[in-house]
Amino acid sequence: MKLISLMGNSQMLDAGSMFGNAPKALWSRWVEVDEFNRMQIACRCLLAKDFHGKNILFETGIGAFFEPKLKSRFGINEDDHVLLNSLAQHDLKHTDIDIVVLSHLHFDHAGGLLSKWQDGKEPELLFTNAQYLVSSDHWQRAVDPHPRDRASFIPQLNKLLMDSGRLQLVIGSTHELLPEVRFDYSNGHTPSMMHAIIKNDVVFCADLIPGKPWVHVPISMGYDRFPELLIDEKSQFLVDHHKNNRKLFFTHDPDFAIADITYENGRYSTINEIKFFNQEY
Ligand SMILES: [Zn+2]
Repeated sequence: MKLISLMGNSQMLDAGSMFGNAPKALWSRWVEVDEFNRMQIACRCLLAKDFHGKNILFETGIGAFFEPKLKSRFGINEDDHVLLNSLAQHDLKHTDIDIVVLSHLHFDHAGGLLSKWQDGKEPELLFTNAQYLVSSDHWQRAVDPHPRDRASFIPQLNKLLMDSGRLQLVIGSTHELLPEVRFDYSNGHTPSMMHAIIKNDVVFCADLIPGKPWVHVPISMGYDRFPELLIDEKSQFLVDHHKNNRKLFFTHDPDFAIADITYENGRYSTINEIKFFNQEY
């Protein structure tokens, strides 16, 4: 089997929001911004190709389902559904995916489940042969969100997932469909966000650590629901995965798909960063 990083649609997002309470004087050392103070954000997915005879996709990115006004509000760069083009580069169609694993259902992680926007047409659910794996507790949040994060979910997606008959709610650290994948959970970004640990080697950070700058423990996002909890969870996460020599997989970092963890002078960072990950196991 192969683990392959795939680019989905990308966004331009307000850099201040991405760095929470960190001042611009600090984060401007790490990222560049445009004239609107927006930084480049990737929506990267991870494909496990021919894993026990199945094709498994970890996340789908933001996709291209937003109508033009919202597309521009959320700074989405491309018109095409980029993930579908990335899959095609590996000779796969969305119908070839057997399992889609969603860390959580915020639109920049699950929007790619939907077909691209067309005037006068409701978006359709893609990956029509796949089982969709979502944490059971997170599903409860998605169908009954708090006013503070309601805008991060896609109400029509919940209904499509339910009606598909292929939604699998995950409880605990394993799932029968996915041997050699273990699940961990964090609650600081959103309740019950699911982190897949694949072949005990690669861990899907999701929005606990969206990219390299957020490996530094005190740095959180303005979008995080419970920042202090997130910092505690991130500390434990880094201790554990560093000790076990696992690689971090980043969804939102525009430059790096994957990296090893280092710990020097009391500070976590990364080494051996790779932009496009493609590894045979
Ligand atoms: Zn999120």
